[in-house]
Amino acid sequence: MSNAEQKIAVFPGSFDPVTKGHQAIVKRALPLFDKVIIAIGNNSEKNKYFSLEQRKLFLEKTFSHLPKIEIAIFEGLTVNFCSSVGANYILRGLRSVSDFEYEKNIAQINRSMQEEIETVFLLTDPAYIAYTSTIVRDIHKYGGNAKLLVPDAIGDFF
Ligand code: ADP
Repeated sequence: MSNAEQKIAVFPGSFDPVTKGHQAIVKRALPLFDKVIIAIGNNSEKNKYFSLEQRKLFLEKTFSHLPKIEIAIFEGLTVNFCSSVGANYILRGLRSVSDFEYEKNIAQINRSMQEEIETVFLLTDPAYIAYTSTIVRDIHKYGGNAKLLVPDAIGDFF
């Protein structure tokens, strides 16, 4: 299959760090696409807790055994990154109405910039609604055990 025929999705995010919530979304997206590129956006002014290298390593340890997955770092607009890798889909997870309010604006702006790129949303499994990177960071910062919230492959770091 040529690159043009492949269904390639970019799953952009901060992944600071990756949680079991992210992992569940990726797992459910795999049957829908030929390739999923998990892409760490390096363009936010927000201070990150884990370094870019550390966040990438966590993603690699979690997903590198799966052949349909690639891990990448990008700067600038998500739609431009999608074009550069031949992706026609942006994958995002939705946990709540507030996620939806935020995501719908971004998806509409992205579509106005690049009409051929569709944003695909997957609703979180209720079991993972509370699995947020923010909670993992808070537990980690204060020396607690956050193992249960992160993928098993990186449990030793938490
Ligand atoms: P961003 O800073 O771009 O929101 P995140 O790493 O926080 O990056 O999230 C990346 C994507 O994963 C977003 O679409 C977010 O809604 C989704 N996500 C995060 N946690 C969960 C979860 N527990 N269940 C489903 N989706 C989630």
